[in-house]
Amino acid sequence: MVERLAAEVSADHADGVLLAGVLRGSVPFLADLARAMSIRSRIDFLAIAPYSPGTGRVRLLKDLDLDIGGRDVVIVEDIVDTGLTSEFLCAQLSRRNPRNLSVCTFVDRPARRAAPLEPDYVGIEIPEEFVVGYGLDYEGRYRNLPVLATANSAVLKEDPDAYVAALYRF
Ligand code: 5GP
Repeated sequence: MVERLAAEVSADHADGVLLAGVLRGSVPFLADLARAMSIRSRIDFLAIAPYSPGTGRVRLLKDLDLDIGGRDVVIVEDIVDTGLTSEFLCAQLSRRNPRNLSVCTFVDRPARRAAPLEPDYVGIEIPEEFVVGYGLDYEGRYRNLPVLATANSAVLKEDPDAYVAALYRF
């Protein structure tokens, strides 16, 4: 899947690309994506404060260090869910006059979309299930699982460590 996405991104950006990873969930995906691409790339990161459900408010916690003016920029996300994060980031970054701006996400869950946002590059589309692993966490846990796994969010709410014993060897 990552190889397919890397080929798609590479084909569209012959002059190279700046990968803007959204901390922290995109890190494993971005690392694999960048290494699978056949074009020049720069890597930078930004972070947003989690919004409280219902308010739709998103805030920039850490900005990019690089200037994106005139560059081809791909925002790299772990998952596009409501789309509010990507919408906010696209609005922020497009003000800086990149030559081109697109969104690449490992996971897309269009069922809960609240913003009119369609990612340009999608690894996998999933139904309404909560997922962890490959960067995606639950209260900081499970990010380093090498696979994407569905999890029962009611179980996790009761005990965030519920799957730890089954997934990790001590
Ligand atoms: P948005 O709703 O703005 O599209 O996504 C916001 C963030 O919510 C994502 O970047 C991700 O960190 C988190 N998120 C959304 N759905 C899931 C999920 O199924 N599992 C996990 N672990 N995080 C999610």
